[in-house]
Amino acid sequence: MKGFGMLSVGSPGWLEKDRPVPGPQDAVIRPKIISPCTSDIHTMMNGGEDPNAKNLILGHEAVGEVVEIGNMVKKIKVGDFVVVPSVTPDWTELGVQDARCAAHDSGMTESFKFLRRKDGVMGEFFHVNHADANLALLPDGVSPEAALMAVDMMTTGFYAAEMAEISSGDTVVVIGIGPVGLMAVAGAAVSRAGRIIGVGTRPVCIKLAKEYGANDILSYKEGDLARQVLEMTGSGADRVILAGGDMDTLRTAAEMTKAGGIISSVAFFNISETLSMPAAAWGFGLSGKDIRCGLCPGGALRLKKLMELIKYGRVDTAKLITHKFYGFDKIEDAFNLMAEKTPDLIKPIVYTD
Ligand code: NDP
Ligand code: ZN
Repeated sequence: MKGFGMLSVGSPGWLEKDRPVPGPQDAVIRPKIISPCTSDIHTMMNGGEDPNAKNLILGHEAVGEVVEIGNMVKKIKVGDFVVVPSVTPDWTELGVQDARCAAHDSGMTESFKFLRRKDGVMGEFFHVNHADANLALLPDGVSPEAALMAVDMMTTGFYAAEMAEISSGDTVVVIGIGPVGLMAVAGAAVSRAGRIIGVGTRPVCIKLAKEYGANDILSYKEGDLARQVLEMTGSGADRVILAGGDMDTLRTAAEMTKAGGIISSVAFFNISETLSMPAAAWGFGLSGKDIRCGLCPGGALRLKKLMELIKYGRVDTAKLITHKFYGFDKIEDAFNLMAEKTPDLIKPIVYTD
């Protein structure tokens, strides 16, 4: 079968692979709609967590049709239209029983299997482990496109808001208003934030950030970002969410956070980066500022709950989609667009038929 991915680090391209075979608890899916993610681009450009990654089909955002199941799969049937979480834990591993690290089933980030431990969803077929626990059926009242935006963008953005433990009326800064940050803005709004300040420059993202609940927008390109937030708020933000930027942005986030506040990061840092923190930004060790970082938890239950938020009108995830491509071969165009990040882009999707 054909799939789009990386021949080696820095070389995107088409690959020829064997069609995957399901283990007893697994399923094989034919993707119907896929969307490339910023993390696919990171992996292609520098290997993500593995600088020697090669011969790998990319992609971890898909809805599709089940074409084959293992002999122990009970709930999911061949022919089901399913929503596939980007994070698919092995539910037999002890790590998932620890509520604090459900995304790390048998070791650091081990539940994130596409992209890292096996081929992703941008193939003619792809494999999903533990189908009954990981796959959700598309509910009535939720479009396939809206569901597709939940499998990574919404679950990650909302997880950033969840890690931030927002209290009613909190001032929340969301650094980065790409698709993940936009979902963090929406997540902060439904978590009862007071003032929400978004940080970014692309006009299409700024417009949508306001629709999702941002009250103010700041540009990281216009002067010291931490100072801008301190001037606006007086004493800093209660909660700061990181959904973009680089290793220096973590320091900036700490500088703008109130004593006792929480910095919640879902940003991916490259293997070559070193995270450091000046003592002053850290209150000389006495600030009580809490840095949390995380990979969103996976599985069917979380996805079902997120789709309830869509179904009952709390958030319209389909608004993230700015570009639509038709035909499996167009995956390459969508991927290139994602790599280029044109000013009018938030998320591209590809209908594979
Ligand atoms: P985008 O690249 O689309 O958006 C990044 C945002 O950060 C943009 O708003 C951009 O502004 C802003 N930004 C860029 N540089 C800076 C800077 N120096 N300071 C402040 N803001 C800056 O990314 P995505 O929304 O797709 O993804 C965001 C992050 O989340 C990525 O690191 C991605 O790898 C990670 N991710 C993590 C997951 C997880 O589970 N933990 C899952 C999925 C993604 P501008 O408007 O100028 O472009
Ligand atoms: Zn992703």
